[in-house]
Amino acid sequence: MKRIYLFEEGAAKDKRLLGGKGANLAEMMKMGLPVPPGFIITTETCLEYSGAGEKMPERLMDEVATGIKHIEEKTGKKFGDIHNPLLVSVRSGAAISMPGMMDTILNLGLNDETVKGLTELGGNERFAYDAYRRFIAMFCKIAMGVQGELFDETFERIKRKHGAKYDTDLDAEALKEVVKEFKKICKDALGKEFPSDPYEQLRLAIEAVFKSWNSPRCVAYRKEFKITPDIANGTAVNVVAMVFGNMGNDSATGVAFTRDPATGENVLFGEYLTNAQGEDVVAGVRTPKPISKMKDEMPQIYQELLKFRDILEHRYREVQDFEFTIERGKLHMLQTRGGKMNAEARVKTAVDMVKEGIITKEEAILRLYPEQLEKLMHKRIDPKSKAKSIARGLAASPGAASGIAIFSADDAEREGKAGKDVILVREETKPEDVHGFFASQGILTSRGGKTSHAAVVARGIGKPCVSGCEAIRIDVRAKKAYIGKAVINEGDVLTIDGSSGDVYLGEVSMIEPELGEELLELLKWADKKRRLGVLANTDTPEGALQARKFGAEGIGLCRTERMFNATDRLPLVQAMILSETADERKPYLEKLLPMQKQDFKEILKAMEGLPVTVRLLDPPLHEFLPSYEELQRDVDDLKKERESLPLKRKTSVITKRAKDLENTIAEKEKMAKRIRTLAEINPMLGHRGVRVGITEPDIYETQIRAYFEACAEVMKEGTMIKPELMVPNVCTLQELIVVKEILDRVASEVEQKYGLKVPMKFGTMIEVVRACLEADQIAKVAEFFSFGTNDLTQATFSFSREDAENKFLPFYTENKVLPDNPFQTLDIEGVGKLMKICIELGRKTRPDIKIGICGEHGGDPKSVEFCDDIKLTYVSCSPYRVPIARLAAAQAALRNQSS
Ligand code: PEP
Ligand code: MG
Repeated sequence: MKRIYLFEEGAAKDKRLLGGKGANLAEMMKMGLPVPPGFIITTETCLEYSGAGEKMPERLMDEVATGIKHIEEKTGKKFGDIHNPLLVSVRSGAAISMPGMMDTILNLGLNDETVKGLTELGGNERFAYDAYRRFIAMFCKIAMGVQGELFDETFERIKRKHGAKYDTDLDAEALKEVVKEFKKICKDALGKEFPSDPYEQLRLAIEAVFKSWNSPRCVAYRKEFKITPDIANGTAVNVVAMVFGNMGNDSATGVAFTRDPATGENVLFGEYLTNAQGEDVVAGVRTPKPISKMKDEMPQIYQELLKFRDILEHRYREVQDFEFTIERGKLHMLQTRGGKMNAEARVKTAVDMVKEGIITKEEAILRLYPEQLEKLMHKRIDPKSKAKSIARGLAASPGAASGIAIFSADDAEREGKAGKDVILVREETKPEDVHGFFASQGILTSRGGKTSHAAVVARGIGKPCVSGCEAIRIDVRAKKAYIGKAVINEGDVLTIDGSSGDVYLGEVSMIEPELGEELLELLKWADKKRRLGVLANTDTPEGALQARKFGAEGIGLCRTERMFNATDRLPLVQAMILSETADERKPYLEKLLPMQKQDFKEILKAMEGLPVTVRLLDPPLHEFLPSYEELQRDVDDLKKERESLPLKRKTSVITKRAKDLENTIAEKEKMAKRIRTLAEINPMLGHRGVRVGITEPDIYETQIRAYFEACAEVMKEGTMIKPELMVPNVCTLQELIVVKEILDRVASEVEQKYGLKVPMKFGTMIEVVRACLEADQIAKVAEFFSFGTNDLTQATFSFSREDAENKFLPFYTENKVLPDNPFQTLDIEGVGKLMKICIELGRKTRPDIKIGICGEHGGDPKSVEFCDDIKLTYVSCSPYRVPIARLAAAQAALRNQSS
C-alpha cells in the first residue's frame, strides 16, 4: 500500500484518499501555482493507525523520510541542519473540510540548534525565537497534551515583566526567556525534555493528527453534520515546507474568497496581516486589513492574486476560499477549497458564472440547495442583530415577524384592522381562528407540530409561525403568557423567527425578502429542464396571484373549508352545521353558495388559463364550532349573571336583560349539545371528507354547484379556464360514484341554465391506504389522482401527526429510529411503496391518468426528487415553496437524465 504521495503525484479528484486540503494542494501545484513543496500521508494510513489500536504502521517513518528528502531537494534546505534548517508544517485534512476540528502544527523542526540556523536564514534573531516559542507551545499542546493555558499565562507574565503591550514588543532576549520557560513547562508536565530530534517531533505530530480524527469533538462534529464514513473516513496528514509571513514588512499572510461570499459580487474579497503567521489572522491578535488595501501596499502581489483567482475559478468552476502567505515579496498558496456562501451569494455567483462562460446552466442549477431559496423569500432576522431568544419552538413556517402579543383571533382581527402589527399567541389554533391569521404578522403556539393546523395554514398564507413552543404557558382568560420568569401581557411586543423556531421579547431588526433578478433568471433555466409540473396549494385570490408570481402553473389544491372561516361566513356555517335536517340546513347553504361562488370566480380569473383543482369539504364538521368546554364556561358565566339580577325590583330593563340571558343560554346550550353529538374520539379517522359528503349530500352539492356556476359565469366573460374538482378521503369506488352522480346532475342543470358546458375534470385525493390498493377500481371514475401525503403518511404509519411531532418523533429522528420526520420528507420506503402500487394500478385502468401530490411533501426537495422518479405529473405546494419545487424538480430531472 502506498502511504505517501508527493504533491506532484496527487490531483483534486483524489480527495477521499488524500483529503481535501492535500488533493487541492496537489492540484494547485499541477496548475502551476506557487505551492510550497510537500507530501501527503493518506487517509487510509490514518485508518490503519486506528485499526491497529493507535499504532504507527511499520516503515511509515521510512516513507516519511523519503518525502522529507524530496522537500529538502526542492527547497535546498535540510531537516535538522544547524545552518540551513528545513522547517515544516503538519496539517490535518479529511475528505471534506471540518473547520476548526483538527489541528495544525507550524515551524516543526526547531530545536536549540536549528533556531540558530533559522536566525542565519532570516537574518533576524527575534523572528527565529518567535517561531521557536510558537512551535513549543503548539507542539506541546497538540502533540503532547499539555494544557494550553500554562503557556498563555507564562507568556503574559513575561510580557508584563517587560512592559510589553503586544507580542511584537518583545525583543529576542525576552523571547529566549519565553522559550526557556516553555521548555520547563513541558518538562514539568511530562517529566521529560522537550523532544529536540526533528524526526521524533514529526512522528509525534503525525500521530497527534491521526488521533485527532477520533477525538470526542471530532466525533461529535461528524455526528452533528451527518458526515458518514462514505463521505469522509480518516484524516490525511499534510507535511509542507514552511514559508514565513512574519519575516518583515515585505511578508504577510491572509485568507481570501474569489468572490464576495456575502453578496456574490465578482470581486476579490479577503483580509491579510503584514509580518504575521497564519494563526494571527484567525486568533484576531491584530486586526487584519481588507485585501483591497494590498493594491497600494503590494501592488505586484495584488495583481498576482487577481490572476490566481481567475485560474482557480476556471479550474474549480466554483467560488474558492484560499489561504496564502507572502515571504519576502514572494507569494505562496497554502490551501484552497469551495467557498461557503449565503443563499444570495450562491445564486448570484452561479448565474454570473454561467454568463462568464465558466459553468453551464445545468451546473448552476445543480449546485444550489433548494431549501436555501426559502431564506430569500421571507423577511429575516438581520444576521447582524445581537438579540437573544427567550424560547424556542418548532420552525413551522419560515420568516420572521414582530408585533404585539394578542391572545384571541377576534382581538387579533380588531387590532390588525386598527393598523397594528400582531403576533397571534395561542395554545393551538382551530379553523375558526383563521381570520386572526389573516390579521396577524405571525403566529405562535404552545402546542402542535409542524403539520398542526397553525403550521399548515401559516405556510399556506406565507406567514411566519413558531408552533409547539412548550416553554410558553398561556393564560387566555387573563390575556397573559409566561416564559420562565418573563410575563408577556397583551400588547407587549414579541418577535418570532419561523425559520429557526426562536421567540424574542421586543422588536428585533429584520431584512426584507428578495426574489432577485438572478434567482428569477435561474428559475427560468430550471423550468426548461424539469419534467414535473409545479402547482400551488392556495385558497384565496391573493394567494393565487402570489403563487403565479412565484411561477406556479396552476392550483393543485384549493381547500374550500378555508373559505368558510371568514367572519361573515362562520356564523352561517355554524348554523348550517347545527341544523339537524337537510331542510333546516337549506337556507344557510343557499346563503353560502353565492359567497363561495364569488371566491371561485376570483380565483379562476387570477389563474386564467391554468388548472384550478378545488377540493370538496374535508375536515370534520365540529372543527367549525367552538370548543365544548369554552361554550360551557360561557353558559356558566351567563347563568351566574342571570342569578345575580335583583329579583325584587322588577323594572322592565331588568326583565328584558333576564329574557335576553335566557335566550342566549338556551342557544348556547343547544349548541353545546350538538357539539357533544358531533364530538369524536378520533376526528382525523372519523366523520370527515367524503363521508360527510355521503351523509349530508346537500353540503357537497352546494359546493359543486357554486364551482360549476362560477366556471360558467367566468367563461361567459371570456376567461379561459381549466377547472377540476376532487374529493378528499376516498377509500372506495362507491363513494366516488355517489359524488359523481351529484356532479353529473349539477353539470347538466348548469349547462341548461347558462347554455354552455363546463370542461370540468373529476378526480380524487389519494390519502387512505385502501385507496392505494384499490386504485384500479377508483380510476374507473377518477380522471386524476392527487396524493394527500399528509394523511397518507399518518395512515401508513398509524401515527397521529400532531401527537407524533409533539411527543416521540423528535426522539425517533435524533436516535435514528427514523431517518427523517416523515411528515416533512416523504417516507420513500413505506409511503412511497404504496404510491408506486397506486400508480401502477391506476395506470392499468386509465393509462394516461394525471397523478400529482398536494401534501406538504410537494415542496420538499428530497420528496420532489422521488416524485420525479415515479413519474408523477406534478407537485403542488404552498406558494412560497413553489420556487424551491421548481429548482428541485429541475435538479431531479437532470440527475435522472444523467443516471
Ligand atoms: C393531505 O392529507 O396531504 C392533504 C393535502 O390534505 P390536508 O392536509 O388538508 O388534510
Ligand atoms: Mg388530507
